[in-house]
Amino acid sequence: MTATLAHQLTGQMIIAGSPVSGTGAEIRGFDPAAGQPLEPAYRHGDSADVEAAAAAAAAAFPVYRATTSEQRAQFLEAIAARIEAVKETLIARAVAESGLPQARITGEVGRTTGQLRLFAEVLREGSWNGARIDNALPDRAPLPRPDIRQRFIPLGPVAVFSASNFPLAFSVAGGDTASALAAGCPVVVKGHDAHPGTSEIVARAITEAVAESGLPAGTFSLLFGTGQKLGIALVTDPRIKAVGFTGSRTGGTALVAAAAARPEPIPVYAEMSSINPVFLLDGALSTRGAELGKAFIGSLTMGSGQFCTNPGLVIAVDGPGLDAFVAAAREAVSAAPATPMLTPNIAGSYASGVESLAAAAELVARGVEGSETCGQAALFTTDAKSFLASEDLQAEVFGASSLIVRCADAAEVAVVAQGIEGQLTATVHADDSDGDAARELLPLLELKAGRILFNGWPTGVEVCHAMVHGGPFPATSDSRTTSVGARAIERFLRPVAYQDVPKALLPSAIADGNPEQIWRRIDGRLSQD
Ligand code: NAP
Repeated sequence: MTATLAHQLTGQMIIAGSPVSGTGAEIRGFDPAAGQPLEPAYRHGDSADVEAAAAAAAAAFPVYRATTSEQRAQFLEAIAARIEAVKETLIARAVAESGLPQARITGEVGRTTGQLRLFAEVLREGSWNGARIDNALPDRAPLPRPDIRQRFIPLGPVAVFSASNFPLAFSVAGGDTASALAAGCPVVVKGHDAHPGTSEIVARAITEAVAESGLPAGTFSLLFGTGQKLGIALVTDPRIKAVGFTGSRTGGTALVAAAAARPEPIPVYAEMSSINPVFLLDGALSTRGAELGKAFIGSLTMGSGQFCTNPGLVIAVDGPGLDAFVAAAREAVSAAPATPMLTPNIAGSYASGVESLAAAAELVARGVEGSETCGQAALFTTDAKSFLASEDLQAEVFGASSLIVRCADAAEVAVVAQGIEGQLTATVHADDSDGDAARELLPLLELKAGRILFNGWPTGVEVCHAMVHGGPFPATSDSRTTSVGARAIERFLRPVAYQDVPKALLPSAIADGNPEQIWRRIDGRLSQD
């Protein structure tokens, strides 16, 4: 395939295949490493742009949802190929706009295309259809049973809010977009102001794939605008039927409230705030406390700590093992260089979050000082009672900052585990001698987190079939779902039952003879018949 995508950025939004110039406030990408704004200028869109994108998405929906799984799989693969064709330009622009290291952004391109291909695989495998057939029982007494069949259908046009901290994997062609498109839902993205150029490059790749695949132009649009105006207009547009979001608790809860207040409320899948507790059990601490302390700071400071899975909380019983952990962590954090944060705003929020921690906890060490747009790592410690009594100590500080909670004994560790809010992850470091303590902790952590991991670090989320990147509020707005991995598609589907529908009218996923050759639950048992 040749890359037809011009490498020149236009500074425009894309609405149903057409470049559109916004008429609102001017925005520019900002290079946090150089402290410089980037060309070209973009402009925010307005309610007329929301109207146009939503109308096109609604018009595209009947055609797009009627495509076969194979057609959508090929479409997702075409997007991945188009992204790969502009990889060098894309990586350079995303590095400039985010200040993230090239290796990290290169990895994110692979993750983004990998996600698109995972959903192509999901579509071809077919169990996403949720096909069930309960055959008629005409002779059942006292009443006969009708023929009832079930499959999933897409919800309709989906609004996706790009994240600042993953300019590719959680942005224009990220997991929300990939899973919604896989489900058969047209997508309208509100790009993040932190990376408009990256957004435009990816949006053009998707737009070309839409055209190449013969799909309606309204299958995809990219808008820019403020969350409070354009974002709310999008979420409250009656043609939008679901929302995917990654960002702050304030932003996520505002969108949930707006969606719930609509005449027709719709689901918002918001991934928001998590401090990702790490539990260090006694055996692990006594054998490798210092080693854990060093590795912990490696995870904490990666990507300037701007991961939703960043380990912002460490919980352990006080003692020599924990002292060794803290000493090694202190040494490592003191040597951690200041690194650029995604935007000046995020750098500012981080600095004030660290100030709040400093006012309520004891400082262990700060990293090397840097410029205003850089994040200076920070490590604090407190006791369990103070932690449980303070909202500030429990709040997410987005960046390379963490808090060690010293507990008197295992019972106090359990009280802290029960007292924390919902989380994306909970980590346990345990040795063989910690078996009983780990067994007691595990059921508590199941109630708090979407992913529980042992003897590792929470940063780095594998994109696979079994992954859960979700968790109870405030980690997400709907703990029954995941925004990463194959099950993310389920957020944009709903089941429909077909009772005594004439055989000739049945969709192929639930037709007699299994024309799609997929796994189906027939009279309660999985079968490929
Ligand atoms: P954000 O402020 O939540 O913004 C994300 C998106 O939501 C943007 O498009 C934003 O539009 C929109 N938005 C924000 N507030 C809104 C509101 N009240 N109503 C409607 N839309 C709204 O997140 P961010 O810009 O990525 O970073 C800011 C902070 O979010 C960070 O400092 C960090 O605390 C947190 N964050 C957390 C995670 C995580 O995974 N846990 C990830 C990223 C960020 P505007 O640009 O117009 O505001």
